[in-house]
Amino acid sequence: MPSYVNPEKCDGCKGGDRTVCMYICPNDLMILDTENMKAYNQEPDQCWECYSCVKSCPQGAISVRHYADFSPLGASCQPMRGTTDIMWTIKFRNGVVKRFKFPIRTTPEGSADPTVGKPDPDLSALGDNRLFTEMADGVTPAVPQNPVAIKFAG
Ligand code: SF4
Ligand code: SF4
Repeated sequence: MPSYVNPEKCDGCKGGDRTVCMYICPNDLMILDTENMKAYNQEPDQCWECYSCVKSCPQGAISVRHYADFSPLGASCQPMRGTTDIMWTIKFRNGVVKRFKFPIRTTPEGSADPTVGKPDPDLSALGDNRLFTEMADGVTPAVPQNPVAIKFAG
C-alpha cells in the first residue's frame, strides 16, 4: 500500500527548492516532476507506509492507497494534521467511517524543561571526563591509566 500523490491537489510545494514530501521521506522516494510541478513516489514498492509524507503534505495531496487488485472495496485510512492533533479518518469496506483524534503532544509547546531535577552546572568539573549523567547517577566508570594503543589495519 504505497503512497500516492493526487496530482489535482499537489502544487509542488509552490516551487520551493525541496518539497515537504521529499524532505520528510526516510527512504527518499518522493521526487518532483519539475515540468508539471507535481511530486510522485518514484518507487512505490519501496514505500514503508510510514505516513510521514501523508501527515506532512500541506495540501493534503498524499494518501496511502491499497493495491486495487488486493483490496478493491474502497477502505481507506487518512490522517489530517492540525496544529495540535492528528485526525485519522478510517473508512471500512462496509462504508462505516470512524474518526480518531490524537494529540501531537500532550504538553504545551516549549513547556518541557530538560534540566528539571538536575544539579546546577559545576564549572570546577569541566576537567572531569565523566558524563554529566554519570555524575548525577553516582556512577563512576574506571578510567584506564595505561590506554592500549589501537592499531588499525591497512
Ligand atoms: S508535499 Fe504535497 S504539495 Fe508538496 S510536493 Fe509533496 S505532494 Fe505536492
Ligand atoms: S509513506 Fe513514508 S516511506 Fe512511503 S513515500 Fe511517504 S514518507 Fe516515504
